[in-house]
Amino acid sequence: MLEIKKYKFWFCPCTQDLYGDEVLAHVHEHAVEVAAALNASDLVPYEVVVKPNLLTNDVIQSTFRAADMDDECAGIITWAHTFSPSKSYIHGLQDLRKPLCQFATQYNEEIPYDSIDMDFMNENQAAHGEREFGHIFARMRINHKVVFGFWKDPEAQAELGQWMRVAVGINESRNIRVCRFADTMRNVAVTDGDKVEAEVKLGWTVDAWPVNDLVPYVDAVTDAEVKELTDEYYDTYELVLDGRDPEEFRRHVEVQAAQEIGIERFLVEHGYNAFSDHFGDLGGLKQLPSLAIQRLMAKGYGFGPEGDWKTPAMVRLMKIMTAGMKDAKGSALMEDYTYNLVKGKEGILESHMSEVDPSVAEGRIALRATPLSMGEREDPARLIFTGKTGPAIATSLVDLGNRFRLIIQDIDCKPVEKPMPMLPTGTVFWEPRPNLKVGTTAWIYAGGAHHTAMSFDLSADQMVDWAESMDIEPVVIDANTN
Ligand code: MN
Repeated sequence: MLEIKKYKFWFCPCTQDLYGDEVLAHVHEHAVEVAAALNASDLVPYEVVVKPNLLTNDVIQSTFRAADMDDECAGIITWAHTFSPSKSYIHGLQDLRKPLCQFATQYNEEIPYDSIDMDFMNENQAAHGEREFGHIFARMRINHKVVFGFWKDPEAQAELGQWMRVAVGINESRNIRVCRFADTMRNVAVTDGDKVEAEVKLGWTVDAWPVNDLVPYVDAVTDAEVKELTDEYYDTYELVLDGRDPEEFRRHVEVQAAQEIGIERFLVEHGYNAFSDHFGDLGGLKQLPSLAIQRLMAKGYGFGPEGDWKTPAMVRLMKIMTAGMKDAKGSALMEDYTYNLVKGKEGILESHMSEVDPSVAEGRIALRATPLSMGEREDPARLIFTGKTGPAIATSLVDLGNRFRLIIQDIDCKPVEKPMPMLPTGTVFWEPRPNLKVGTTAWIYAGGAHHTAMSFDLSADQMVDWAESMDIEPVVIDANTN
């Protein structure tokens, strides 16, 4: 489900034809060497392809147009090895729709004190060229990314790699398609919003379907398919029967197995990669999809409850942006439930009724079937766990009427102090930065939702870069917030 295109990034050395062929040849050779180093680095997740030197207005415009037309090109990385007059870029930049990163690097790490002469100065003047190149973006008010540093420096490579994931997110945002089974929960404001503007700004398709259009897909799942998937659940998770009869327990789990298969078939057949439902409008479904949705989230589908269509799209976006990441810790939907206000132990218990993404589970995952205490259906089987720990971000996209705002908060996920044996849901516990009081107060003032798309694997900087590229308003709450 997380298969995405084999994206590549075009690496374009920026120069001009005043220096003679020898310098231009060196510029290109150096670009090939830098690209090879980037391609060999574990910190750079996508392939870098060297393009001919950007020399003249015509070459620049045709290169940028070709990048736009190439579906596998996720963005352009430029390097002003020499001076490269930036009026030459105006027409090209007016056409360019792909993300652009200005890699403000230099071939040599150190000034060659003993041998430096004017020939060297002409050939190696990134300090000069990168300023001219950057100026035109400020002048034209075009969003671009600047990554500064020596090309062999892991910090610069990591920053470039993180921007690549943002660029893939910008490209893939248009491919996000959210299926809403039923409408938004009545009277709830923050999960609703302007779906037309979401498509204009973010590229997201958001469609509604009657939940009973899904029911035949669930009912059509065969007994053999249900048995096979239920056996897989039994092999994968730790069964906790809570005194239930084993056969009765298995029947509850089987309902979720049929739902997992049926929902995925519906989504695949209709081309959706994210979805929402609503516990108050389940039509012919026997149970609130719980285990079924947890499994689909872990496979890479975005999901949001109560008709929330913005959070599933954000979760899907995060899963795409982190696709293929080594040692990824996960990105997931969460809901702010309950505070711990005890001094020194402050935090927010994050969970949901049952649909908590096991991508962020730490340790054992239990499978139980317990009452929901809400709605009017059978007890749904669901996975129960506690979450991973460490620094992460929580985000909330809200519609303020005349604009979208993406609230991005740095958080620290922590172990819960004690087990919660009576709570039948997956949980994560976190403290917002700079602390619970200031972080929560700022979140409330910013209009953030109780639903969040959280990620252990993305930074606030990356989400700001994404939001700015989509021309929406980012708000960051972090250690510096007061
Ligand atoms: Mn909710």
